[in-house]
Amino acid sequence: MSVSVFPIKAFNDNYIWCLHNKTQCSVVDPGDAAPVLAYCQDNQLTLSAIIITHHHWDHTGGIDALLAAFPNIPVYGPQNKNIKQITVRLSQGDDIELALLGVKFSILEVPGHTLDHIAYYGDIGLFCGDTLFSAGCGRLFEGTPQQMFASLSKLTALPADTAVYCTHEYTMANIAFAEAVEPNNQALIDYKRWVNQQRAENTPTLPSNIQRELDVNPFLRCHSAELVANVSQNMGAMLASEQEIFASLRSWKDNF
Ligand SMILES: [Zn+2]
Repeated sequence: MSVSVFPIKAFNDNYIWCLHNKTQCSVVDPGDAAPVLAYCQDNQLTLSAIIITHHHWDHTGGIDALLAAFPNIPVYGPQNKNIKQITVRLSQGDDIELALLGVKFSILEVPGHTLDHIAYYGDIGLFCGDTLFSAGCGRLFEGTPQQMFASLSKLTALPADTAVYCTHEYTMANIAFAEAVEPNNQALIDYKRWVNQQRAENTPTLPSNIQRELDVNPFLRCHSAELVANVSQNMGAMLASEQEIFASLRSWKDNF
């Protein structure tokens, strides 16, 4: 019984990842119920679980309407009491199994974008919400640069071929910034060509994988000499540690 992962589009640039077999499905971060209900109906799928990475409305706004249509299904999510619909609250090191799909996940706490942010890792891939994007990372709404740097380090320690399911199609805009920071990165130049083709055909650039992100994502490349030189020049100061470089890179991107 094989499981597929389908990107249900929502809002301008969100993907609600739908894990499904022929009859059952689970969705990750359903900010909007309508496209999920339509997808379930079109494909005759029964929603059997909801998975939440963090509290932002564009990841949680559809929960109530989905529970109205599919009552009493489990809602997995972080230790954040403000997300009232969560039935299984998860912490670092917890393991869950979506029994009807035969999918297992280990939980990683990845504070930074928000303090409650968790990620789900298993054989099927990494569902990392708004922590890691292709060629970028989430804004620091609640956490510190140090927290985000540590969280991203947890993700890059995963196997290189791990599929990375991010929640937003931000890749093209992220590449524009990555180019400014590391213009001579050949892997980035090659990736941009592929991304432009994908987007011209309105095809998602996701999932990515850990190795690709290590090759092109400036937020994972604070060791690159070219990147360090450009960030230091932008700051008008020599930056010593990778954490300092990461913090400066993040604030540069916020104003890019
Ligand atoms: Zn968010």
